[in-house]
Amino acid sequence: MKTNAYAAQNATTSLSPFSFQRRDVGQHDVQIEILYCGVCHSDLHTVRGEWGGTTYPCVPGHEIVGRVVKVGAHVEKFKEGDTAGVGCMVDSCRTCANCKEDLEQFCEKGTIFTYNSPEKQTGGTTFGGYSDSIVVDEAFVLHIPQNLDLAATAPLLCAGITTYSPLRHNNVSKGQKVGVVGLGGLGHMAVKLAKGFGAHVVVFTTSSNKVEDALRLGADEVVNSKNADEMKKHLNSFHFILDTVSAQHDINAYLLLLKRDGNLTQVGVPAEPLPLQVGSLIFGRRSLSGSLIGGIKETQEMLDFCGEHNITSDIELIPIQNINEAYDRLLKSDVKYRFVIDMASLKQAL
Ligand code: NAP
Ligand code: ZN
Ligand code: ZN
Repeated sequence: MKTNAYAAQNATTSLSPFSFQRRDVGQHDVQIEILYCGVCHSDLHTVRGEWGGTTYPCVPGHEIVGRVVKVGAHVEKFKEGDTAGVGCMVDSCRTCANCKEDLEQFCEKGTIFTYNSPEKQTGGTTFGGYSDSIVVDEAFVLHIPQNLDLAATAPLLCAGITTYSPLRHNNVSKGQKVGVVGLGGLGHMAVKLAKGFGAHVVVFTTSSNKVEDALRLGADEVVNSKNADEMKKHLNSFHFILDTVSAQHDINAYLLLLKRDGNLTQVGVPAEPLPLQVGSLIFGRRSLSGSLIGGIKETQEMLDFCGEHNITSDIELIPIQNINEAYDRLLKSDVKYRFVIDMASLKQAL
């Protein structure tokens, strides 16, 4: 099936119109007309080859929401006309220990990510949501709560689950002091979710113009992370810190803010290694972890939680023609707080 999209042809040129063939709808597949797709910083890292391993052409996009237009004969959970979402994964082996524990993102045989992974049926590469249509096995398709604004729900499919999962895994709850480092797409969702779990939330930002917004989004306190005196006031005080920063920065400065046995979980994936002073872990028996998105079951749980608590992303809706400018703004930390592509604009692009 012919699909229109925007793709990067290599690491250095702008994204531009591109078309390709999606596989036909199989018996367990759902075909979704994509209405909105969020713009994750991972799209930019991948398109520009910053992590290595990018196959071109690359059609990014893994915060997909739209309308079901066709279902295979054996599809049970979806019907034509439903709203549906697709996040960062489209398949996994489903039989390994991690898949069986609903942790498909850690599939031992290799998770099939929404873009830049092997597309087994076509023998090519998976292409993501900067496109007008996608075909996905229903096991990897999510139900979208009806009460939420659809465009503002798209970022939940990556930014939402990537922050929800480590907050839950670390039992963030009422009365705890929780830090969020970096107020971008992931960071602003972390603030909303951690508040939803009842925590006392402190945002660390390098952007002085985000202070008001951080408070409006629900933060109890905001710290200018470039100011050593402001940082010092929070030494040894946090139960948990979630670090969402996309670029090189000093994680030791944050480890020192953890209480004894506190944990800092890294979800941002800077292209370069982060230097670690082990003393900041050893004193206080602190720990440093990582976390990768979340499983499908937990993603549905997160969507339902957001439906119940009316949590969506603060978005700037853009036509796909502005995607390259949006990437440039991401690099300047100038996003409030997630770009979402209005896929209707793709028709004008062609
Ligand atoms: P984003 O919207 O661009 O936000 C990143 C934020 O980090 C910026 O807004 C900025 O916040 C801060 N920042 C940027 N450069 C900085 C620097 N040099 N020093 C200190 N702070 C800086 O990005 P995102 O979409 O939230 O993604 C964040 C990171 O998470 C990316 O690396 C992405 O690839 C990764 N990611 C990981 C997963 C996972 O499963 N682990 C999933 C999705 C994304 P302030 O202006 O407040 O300082
Ligand atoms: Zn993402
Ligand atoms: Zn598996």
